[in-house]
This record gives sequence, C-alpha cells and structure tokens, in this order.
Amino acid sequence: MAKQAGKNCYRLFDVAIDASIQNKQVALQQFSAALTANEFVLYYQPKVNMRTGKVIGAEALIRWMHPEKGLLPPAAFLPEIEGQPVSIALGEWVIDTALTQITAWHSQGLVLPVSVNIAGLQLEQADFPERLGVLLAAHPEVTPYSLRLEILETSALDDITKVSATMRACQALGVTFALDDFGTGYSSLTYLKHLPAEMLKIDQSFVRNMTEQAGDLAIVQGVISLANVFQRDVIAEGVETKSHGDLLLSIGCDLAQGYGIARPMPAEAMQTWVKSWQEKAIWTA
Ligand code: C2E
Ligand code: MG
Ligand code: MG
Ligand code: MG
Repeated sequence: MAKQAGKNCYRLFDVAIDASIQNKQVALQQFSAALTANEFVLYYQPKVNMRTGKVIGAEALIRWMHPEKGLLPPAAFLPEIEGQPVSIALGEWVIDTALTQITAWHSQGLVLPVSVNIAGLQLEQADFPERLGVLLAAHPEVTPYSLRLEILETSALDDITKVSATMRACQALGVTFALDDFGTGYSSLTYLKHLPAEMLKIDQSFVRNMTEQAGDLAIVQGVISLANVFQRDVIAEGVETKSHGDLLLSIGCDLAQGYGIARPMPAEAMQTWVKSWQEKAIWTA
C-alpha cells in the first residue's frame, strides 16, 4: 500500500516536472516565433553631458510588442530566456537593429553613438568578436566608436582573462565598453581592475538615494574617484531630478542618463527630442 502511494507520489512529481519543462519549451517557442514575427522593438534613451549640454549617445532598450499583452519591458521576458540559445539570437538582433538605426539617424544628419546591453553569457561565447565583426561589416556606413556595449553583471563572468581578451578583440573592431549597474555586482572591483572597459555606469539605486543617504552618496563619490584613478569615463544612470544632476556635477560626474533628462522613446522621436534639448542648451530637468 505504502509502496503504491509512494509510486503515485513519484508519478505526480514526474508529471509536474514534465509540465514545467513543457511550459518552458512553449515559452521558448513563442519567443522564437516573436523574433521571427518582428515583435521586438528597441526604445532609445538619451545620454547627455550636463556641463556642455551635448547629447553624447543613446542606450537601446528592448521591448516586446506582445499581440495580446501590449508593450512588455525586458524584466517581463528576458529572465525566461536567460542562458538559452534564443538569447544569443536575440542579442544579435539587438546589435543588428542598433546598427541599422545608427545608419538611419546618420543619413538624417543625427550622429548618435548607440549603447547596447549584452549579458555576460553573450560575451563568453568564443566566437563573439567574429560574429560582431560580421554584423559590423554588414553596416559599413557605421563609423568606428559608434557602437558601445554595456556589460550586465547579472551572471558572474567565469573567466575574466578570457572575457578581457574578447573585449580587446571587439575594441580592435572599434567598439567600446561600459560596465553597467556598476557597484551592484559582487565582482565590480575585480572587473574594474581586469576588464578594459572605457566607462563605468553608476547604478541608479545609488543615484536615487544619494541626496538623502550619506552611504549612497559615498558610493557614488567612490565610483567617480575609482573612474578617475583607473582613467575611465563615468556616467550616472537614474538621474530623475534637477538636484540629482546638480549634485553629480558638483562631485565631478558630468555625464548622465535618466527620466529627468528623457525617458526611453521610439527611434522616430529622437530627432525631435535632440532638437528641443539643444534649444534648451542647459541642464534644466
Ligand atoms: P539597464 O541597462 O541598467 O537600463 C536602465 C533601465 O533603467 C532601463 O529599464 C531604463 O528604462 C530605466 N531607467 C532609465 N532612467 C531611469 C530613471 O531615471 N528612473 C528609473 N526608475 N528607471 C530609469 P528597462 O528598459 O526596463 O531595462 C531594464 C534592464 O533590462 C536593463 O537595465 C538591462 O539590464 C536589461 N535590458 C534592456 N534591454 C536589453 C537588451 O537588449 N539585451 C539585454 N541582454 N538586456 C537588456
Ligand atoms: Mg544598460
Ligand atoms: Mg544600468
Ligand atoms: Mg539595470
């Protein structure tokens, strides 16, 4: 009897696992279908130099125009595909689309470097520089240093020596790097020391509270000092208010990105936004 029950339990458990694997597979299939059906879109968020007023670039941020659920943010679907082959395909789609956009803006007289987010896993692919080279070659109008890659620290990089070699190979193609969400990953300082990234992005969680929390302000100041010592550029993300911007300027961080400057927008809105920003010509969030 007990044996029988045990067997049933085992069966139930088995069925539950089957169902979850099946759900996962259905989700991955839907995801691949969405990629083919062109349901993904990139929004762009400007980055500015608050001191000079110059627009220095834009970050590409993925959205899913889901036929039933509407516009989905990356947090709603990227975790589902993390580590799956389809995430590599999506990563290449993002780079390709960003390169197409750089060219389109350029032909309209708008010279705007674009930053693309890449997962650590993507960078750990042995043939990443080669595949990046193929994508760049397909967009010959894109000038060097127009494509920037933001390395997300969500998964720890296993082999720092290998990753830094990969980064150098990409840099030889005229691509630059930023360490995204800097300060939140447990390996930030090791990454800073060993990875040849040109820029550090101060995570928005520190920027958000730095006007009230002495500890957060100390971290922001610490990242700015580290950037100076290691001769990297530094940008603050999550700049929402004028006091955020003023404080950052007073402690030596001129570059910023955040809702206080502009929210992520469709590519078609960028030209008009840049024009209106330049007319203001000063930091007026
Ligand atoms: P991230 O790269 O750190 O991008 C910044 C996120 O903060 C974006 O959220 C942006 O919309 C949001 N943000 C910008 N300014 C402000 C602000 O002032 N206040 C607040 N509260 N939020 C602000 P989003 O677009 O939802 O993207 C979230 C994350 O998803 C990104 O964080 C990045 O890690 C990931 N992601 C986005 N696009 C891609 C992609 O194409 N590939 C990969 N692998 N990851 C992506
Ligand atoms: Mg980013
Ligand atoms: Mg970030
Ligand atoms: Mg983030």
